Amino acid sequence: MDKPKEACGVMGISSPSKSSLGKLCYLGLISLQHRGQDSAGITISTNGKLKTEKALGLVTEAFRGKDTSSWVGEVVIGHTRYSTTGEVSLVNSQPVERVFGSNTIALAHNGNLINTAELKELLKNEGEELKTSTDSEIILALITKNAHKGLVEAVTLAMNLVKGSFSLVIISGNKLIGVRDSWGIRPLCLGVLDDGSYALASESCAIDVIGGKLIRDVNPGEIIVLESNTAKKEVELSAHKYSKDKVQAPCAFESIYFSRPDSVMRGQELFQFRKECGRLLYNQSPIKADLVLGVPDSGIAAAIGVSEESGIAFSLGLIKNKYLGRSFIEPTEEMRKHLVSLKFNPLRSEIDNKRILLVDDSLVRGTTSKKLIDILRKAGAAEVHLYSASPPVKHPCFFGIDLPTKKDLIAVRLSSVEKICSKIGADSLTYLSLENLSQALGGESHCAGCFSGTYPKLD
Ligand code: SF4
Repeated sequence: MDKPKEACGVMGISSPSKSSLGKLCYLGLISLQHRGQDSAGITISTNGKLKTEKALGLVTEAFRGKDTSSWVGEVVIGHTRYSTTGEVSLVNSQPVERVFGSNTIALAHNGNLINTAELKELLKNEGEELKTSTDSEIILALITKNAHKGLVEAVTLAMNLVKGSFSLVIISGNKLIGVRDSWGIRPLCLGVLDDGSYALASESCAIDVIGGKLIRDVNPGEIIVLESNTAKKEVELSAHKYSKDKVQAPCAFESIYFSRPDSVMRGQELFQFRKECGRLLYNQSPIKADLVLGVPDSGIAAAIGVSEESGIAFSLGLIKNKYLGRSFIEPTEEMRKHLVSLKFNPLRSEIDNKRILLVDDSLVRGTTSKKLIDILRKAGAAEVHLYSASPPVKHPCFFGIDLPTKKDLIAVRLSSVEKICSKIGADSLTYLSLENLSQALGGESHCAGCFSGTYPKLD
């Protein structure tokens, strides 16, 4: 694993009338596919009755042969999973369902709780049984134990018990609820469709794809309730705060790498943010070169920023095989050695005899960078200088992002930039500074714990 791994995508839609919400949710999930490829699931509520379909694999694989356009209902939620806690199995797939008073409730979740042991003990002492090893089921059990208080109150009480990073979409009856953790670590946004439907999604690209318009991010510590009223042909929206204001700490890696460049977070399109990182990186350490290349796809936006700022031409240089997918795993060690060359082939005519500025979003283990630099040199590059459009990754993430262990992080293993250059074969290496990362994020407070070792205090 040479990149951090995402931790799921969530989607929810509430409609003023019965409509083909299964199809809309399916389309939204496809646009969130990059956030998790282990399993996918949809729960739809029709006349207040829930139906869940889920399966292992990509969204298109999970719903192959299913006519999602025939899934008609008032509210729907969906999930695409990357397993940070709990193994890859159907029982751990989401949405998860549970009895809620005389009704049923379903929940889909992105993130990671940090007080699960304490919560499991609490639930055990109250006789609650858990069937899976996921945080999602713990949250759902905490909600359902207060079913007699009504959905919004039950969710509010549960949210004040859980600690960690999360975005949730929940449905029961004709209500869709969206919740974001008090620090805003994991993303969730709200959009509206022309027919008066509202949508919640991990990223705004999922709202775009179903023809919606982004309204805003769900605020940290906020509960959004979207109640479908088919008799009045409207969706009633209400927003509640469940916790006091905390120092906001959205994950910087969402902006750097996880989220799609066409998504908007905190009012900033991530393509523009990434270009800005490239501009700042070049000014931080201007290097004479003939060509700027971005590692496809994660380094392209920052590379364009470097090119615009420096006036050095941008080219493709490396052609990516788009059909391998992020979860492609070769069966043997021998075959795995060829993975990077299978994924990236150089454009020799562009590279030959050129001084190359190679830009990637981050440098994590360094294994891919080493192989790419080797590919470029074999294709005739005269020099290869590496720009990392984020600071060195040196620390673990406790908030739902799967990073390699510390001993596998190149910036931990090797004590200087010179040693890293020598290991990966680069002529020079520049990391974006923490100050410039913060500037590119508009100076807004954020979590950069895996870079700085300083984490938001989740008290
Ligand atoms: S530690 Fe890193 S990956 Fe984890 S939430 Fe903070 S910025 Fe994101």
